[in-house]
Amino acid sequence: MKQVVAFLLLLFPLTVYSFTAAVTLSPYAKILSKIAGDRISVVTLVPNGADPHTFEPKPSTLRDFSRASIYFTDGSGLDKNWLPRFKGVHSTIKIVSLDEGIQWKKEKTVHSHGSHSQETLDPHLWTSPKNVKIIASNMLNVLLKLDSAGRNLYKKNYELYLKELDLLSKEIETLAKSLSEKEKTFMVFHPSFGYFARDYGFKQLCIESEGKEPKPRDLQHLIQEAKAANVKTVFVMPSFSRRAAETIAKSIQGKVEVIDPLAYEFESSLRILLQTLKRNAK
Ligand SMILES: [Zn+2]
Repeated sequence: MKQVVAFLLLLFPLTVYSFTAAVTLSPYAKILSKIAGDRISVVTLVPNGADPHTFEPKPSTLRDFSRASIYFTDGSGLDKNWLPRFKGVHSTIKIVSLDEGIQWKKEKTVHSHGSHSQETLDPHLWTSPKNVKIIASNMLNVLLKLDSAGRNLYKKNYELYLKELDLLSKEIETLAKSLSEKEKTFMVFHPSFGYFARDYGFKQLCIESEGKEPKPRDLQHLIQEAKAANVKTVFVMPSFSRRAAETIAKSIQGKVEVIDPLAYEFESSLRILLQTLKRNAK
């Protein structure tokens, strides 16, 4: 009997979560889990591999949302679109912002979803470790307020994570110092690495225009830009069309590389970007 109980416990460990928190994207889930460990349960509303630009909340998304007692919003346009629907199923949820203190970056209308008059803000906050440190600190403060019993764990985990982020930040700075201005230029289909570029002195060339494939004339212009900057790799996100990227890569005798800024392990994606830039500079 004892053995049976032990076996069952192995199968279904009695993890008692303090509470459940919802985030939209995997990178935010990663940051939160780094601080909370398995003391809280984290639900990610946009499933892995789904494209948040076209994602529509499903009944399962709303179910997940209604399980949570707190929701970390990044304040992006997408989040604003979804929030009314989310609140419709769970009006008492505590909504906290994770972007407090972050300097948002304006961008060309890539994330406007048709409303051209609107100036859009770059929502890919987590692609700069400097932003991630701010997000982590915001999350920590919320956790400390909500669950004082977990105080020591949260603080310890946060300190450890800061060290990891500082290390990554150092890696980026070291590489940036070793590269020329041209070598610091990279081309991506979707402009996901704007904060990385801004915070560390890189230059991001973006293929997509207003959320669409570029027109032939724009494509010619992009090929010239890529040649001028001696670009050797064109990055695409897994869920995006590779057609334009392939056309450009062919014209500059470069190659297309898939990179996923939305991965749970988003730091690994940043390291792929760094390694490629380093390799291309040789
Ligand atoms: Zn985007």
